[in-house]
Formats: sequence, C-alpha cells, structure tokens
Amino acid sequence: MDCIFCKIVSGEIPSSKVYEDEKVLAFKDINPMAPVHILIIPKEHISGASEINENNSAVVAHIFEVAAKLASDMKLESGFRIVTNCGPDAGQTVNHLHFHLLGGKKLNLQLG
Ligand code: 5GP
Ligand code: ZN
Repeated sequence: MDCIFCKIVSGEIPSSKVYEDEKVLAFKDINPMAPVHILIIPKEHISGASEINENNSAVVAHIFEVAAKLASDMKLESGFRIVTNCGPDAGQTVNHLHFHLLGGKKLNLQLG
C-alpha cells in the first residue's frame, strides 16, 4: 500500500523513533510545531479516526497509555496536547491514523 506511515513502520522510510512495541510506533514529526512533537501511530493501517470501531479500538487506548508515558519521559509535567486530524476539513495530510503529542511550550489554544 502506498502509505508513508506504513513505510515508516516497515523501515522503508527512516524516522526518528522514540518508542516502539508490537502494536504501536512513536517518532518525531518531520516538521515540528512545538519543542516536543511526536507522532504516535498504530502499526496496523487504519486510515483515520473515522475508521475506529469495536474491532480495532483497543490500540487507541494503548496509544494513550504510550502518550502518557512519553509525556512523563519528556518531562511535560506543565502540560501537553494530543491531537488527531480526520479528513480534509481538519487538515489530515497522511491517511494513516496518527496522534500528535505536542508540548514543551505554552501551546496556542486554537481548536477550531
Ligand atoms: P496531519 O496533517 O495528517 O494531521 O499530520 C501529518 C504529520 O505528518 C505532519 O505534521 C507532517 O509533518 C508529518 N509527516 C509527514 N511526512 C512525514 C515523514 O515522512 N516523516 C515524519 N517523521 N513525519 C512526517
Ligand atoms: Zn498506513
């Protein structure tokens, strides 16, 4: 499948990995919007938040566990944000479910 993030999972495209286990991968965003900007993705291809269902949602809970661990490891005790964009109106540019973990500065409150 022609998916950038599947290619990052397979190693075909290199990335700066910060966490990996059998279900998920976390790596630094290539175009960081904050001092800490990590993408956390399921290794399984799910095209976006609209495709989460009762059969695949367990990995989403796991991603949030990993996000909390990474936020702690990165000493984001003063706060962080987790964002997922779904579809063109939200600005999704890669059609493989991903959660942005942002922190390390006072983040702008721009939610819509
Ligand atoms: P979206 O706009 O879909 O919510 O987020 C996609 C994110 O993926 C963007 O922040 C973009 O910088 C990041 N990105 C796109 N291609 C690559 C890549 O090849 N490597 C990495 N590390 N990040 C990427
Ligand atoms: Zn994919």
